[in-house]
Amino acid sequence: MTIEYLKKAEMTAATGEQDVRETVQAILDDIEAGGEAKARDYAAKFDKWEGDILVTPEAIAEASAKVSQKLKDDIRFAHDHVRRFAEAQLATLQDTEVELRPGLIAGHRNIPMSAAGCYVPGGRYAHVASAIMSVTTAKTAGVDQVVACSPAKAGEGVNPAILYTLDLCGADSVLALGGVQGVAAMAFGLFTGHPADILVGPGNQFVAEAKRILYGRVGIDMFAGPSEVMVIADATADPEIVAWDLVGQAEHGYNSPAWLIALDRKLAERVAVLVPELIASLPEVNQTNAAAAWRDYGEIALVDSPEAGAALSDNYASEHLEVHCADLDWWLKRLRNYGSLFLGEETTVAFGDKTSGPNHILPTKGAARYTGGLSVGKFMKTVTWQRMTRESTRDIAQVTARISRLEGMEAHARTADVRLEKWFPDENFD
Ligand code: NAD
Repeated sequence: MTIEYLKKAEMTAATGEQDVRETVQAILDDIEAGGEAKARDYAAKFDKWEGDILVTPEAIAEASAKVSQKLKDDIRFAHDHVRRFAEAQLATLQDTEVELRPGLIAGHRNIPMSAAGCYVPGGRYAHVASAIMSVTTAKTAGVDQVVACSPAKAGEGVNPAILYTLDLCGADSVLALGGVQGVAAMAFGLFTGHPADILVGPGNQFVAEAKRILYGRVGIDMFAGPSEVMVIADATADPEIVAWDLVGQAEHGYNSPAWLIALDRKLAERVAVLVPELIASLPEVNQTNAAAAWRDYGEIALVDSPEAGAALSDNYASEHLEVHCADLDWWLKRLRNYGSLFLGEETTVAFGDKTSGPNHILPTKGAARYTGGLSVGKFMKTVTWQRMTRESTRDIAQVTARISRLEGMEAHARTADVRLEKWFPDENFD
């Protein structure tokens, strides 16, 4: 297996992590000690927002009136797909029970969490689609209190389309807060009285780090940091489509990796030329991020076989993975590590990001080795139960007592003994 890099990324997702960690820890400590007043201070400092933090129903209605009917229809179109996909996932989560031996019945139940905090990024772009992905999925799972937060813009508040979307998807409260202060407010229950059991949603490195630090006190969906794409393409791929799909992802942020694994040299060389040209054709505001992301994090690797391509891809465990190759079924069966897979050039990350249905909140930084993306299951706990007849305790209690004594746990053994003595007084258990 040989890998030749036509372009190698100079930076990795870990670049600069230590500085961010210190900044975020300091803000979290400050807000934990100072509560709502401190959260307000940070909203003023980072986002120049000094208005209401808890968005009122009147403000939501006012914002919704500003959203065009066409945009509302589009948001409903996307919401419908995401909700129906989440409902289909919910249907696969069955409670179960089994009789393990006569009289011993055990089962599990899927119970939704009580409160979820959904982070909706809003710093650079108005991530309407993220609002759909997190809130719709939480509500479909049956979460009672869904609190959402999104940064407010100075003098304007939270983006009106985001507010309309959050309301449509069923958010119970909305906070005009972004960054660490938004995450902290949801985790600690500030402004709503509903501390989150789980924090979900993508965001920049400050948001991702805040969730990482708080993990344990609250659940988190996963690390959904700077967005990533990997495209695997062979000689059948259209280089212009491949190049656009890489650029589309690089636009997310200056640190958003876009990687190509090519099985054909001609294709790889053409894409290497096209990507900078396409970036240069973008409006200036979008160009800056994409150019920096491609320069520092962009990569083109040429491999000599599909197996080598699949192995390299599994090693990266990319958040989004597109396959533009001849035998899509082979790739579907072979690939193991990815957040969401896009098979064939007819689909693309942008479709998944905005409208097609499977969730776009996905693991980054290699986390796809151990987790998939956001789904109704992330908002559920699979908890177990058991019950037994007295007769069935006869064997279980004896074995339990022996194992407990072997482990040196005498009180455990006696919880078994006491039952045997009471329920089977005439029997002799050694
Ligand atoms: P954001 O809402 O994540 O962050 C904005 C907030 O960052 C501000 O409110 C501010 O409080 C905070 N902030 C900015 N500079 C700071 C500093 N120096 N110190 C402390 N806090 C600071 O919006 P964004 O910045 O535009 O980032 C959005 C991110 O979401 C991108 O990285 C994008 O790739 C990612 N994203 C990921 C997915 C996914 O599914 N993985 C989907 C959509 C977006």
